[in-house]
Amino acid sequence: VIVGVARETATGERRVALSPETCKKLVAAGCAVRIQPGIGAGAYFTDAAYIDVGAQLAEDATAAADLVLCVQPPEPAAIAGLKHGTVLVGSLHPQADAARSAALQSAGVVAFPLERLPRTTRAQAMDVLSSQAGMAGYKAVLIAAQLAPRFFPMLTTAAGTIRPSKVLIVGAGVAGLQAIATAKRLGAAVEGFDVRPETREQIESLGGKFLDLGVSAAGEGGYARQLTDEERALQQQRLADHLKGIDVVVCTAAVPGRPAPKIITEAMVAGMKPGSVVVDLAAETGGNCALTQPGQTIESAGVTVAGPLNLASMGAQHASEMYARNVFNFVSLLLKDGALHFDWGDELLARSVWPERVEAGVTKA
Ligand code: NAD
Repeated sequence: VIVGVARETATGERRVALSPETCKKLVAAGCAVRIQPGIGAGAYFTDAAYIDVGAQLAEDATAAADLVLCVQPPEPAAIAGLKHGTVLVGSLHPQADAARSAALQSAGVVAFPLERLPRTTRAQAMDVLSSQAGMAGYKAVLIAAQLAPRFFPMLTTAAGTIRPSKVLIVGAGVAGLQAIATAKRLGAAVEGFDVRPETREQIESLGGKFLDLGVSAAGEGGYARQLTDEERALQQQRLADHLKGIDVVVCTAAVPGRPAPKIITEAMVAGMKPGSVVVDLAAETGGNCALTQPGQTIESAGVTVAGPLNLASMGAQHASEMYARNVFNFVSLLLKDGALHFDWGDELLARSVWPERVEAGVTKA
């Protein structure tokens, strides 16, 4: 099996889907690994580190590949250059991009968008949403600490006592829980809330305080559902009062397949103390805060609102190590006796493959 990895071309993308560690494992499994020079530069993996473990450099690394690994989907022109039947594994979001999904279909690519994997125990080792959300939650808190004109921890000094910053994390999924843990380690007084009731225990186990806004909206598959208008009004009314005493808000709330829920209104921001900070990790899908400008940091009535994009890329080295392990664990399901093999009876393949397969038993030598 020829595995090919090209340089990521999306603006600002520093991560890579193959690390020297996973390259070594693929070579040990009998694959020929071809990489475009510089694939790991953004994550500080040198070409030499890949060559040392058996990779070959090739400017056209993906041209003859059977299996192509990526972080973000390749450009349509690059997809057109893949051979028919190439297996493409990465964060592909084909449903969100008509040009790319058309290119994938006309090139006859067998795509495995990893974000489509079910969130089951067995899929955890392949779960790029979780591994990358962890880095995003961590970085979001560091950005907030950087922007804040205040300390996070309590300090008792000769110049007097500084009270700890009050940090509120909105949404306690994977990113939110990592944000809570990170803010806690920096010494802030941390609160979190979510609409899934089971998050109370998770927030408390990290030393955070659960902010009860009286709204519970667990949906399917362990995710949240969209709130009704009444629930939303209740949540907002209680939150508006509470935010007046908060120094830093980190937003991470999401509902699968929908724009980010709007939780922090302009009026709520106006009610916050000057010098407060909102970091909106949901900026990519529109933001949880009404004032969020994706990719920008603005100030409104003394409150700084940041909407950073692709936070995982800011921690490219560890994010890539984790992403590459997720990819390798998934690819291991496809490698059998030195060939690619598709067990469509395995729900991890059957549920992630795009476009959806109806027929079973496809095997490719
Ligand atoms: P996500 O990114 O879809 O959403 C982030 C959080 O926002 C969620 O906790 C959600 O409940 C919350 N949210 C949505 N609307 C909200 C609102 N109006 N107000 C406040 N909070 C709101 O979620 P995620 O981080 O991908 O994880 C979702 C679930 O999947 C969690 O239960 C997580 O434990 C579970 N999970 C399971 C596995 C596994 O077993 N393989 C792996 C990862 C995550």
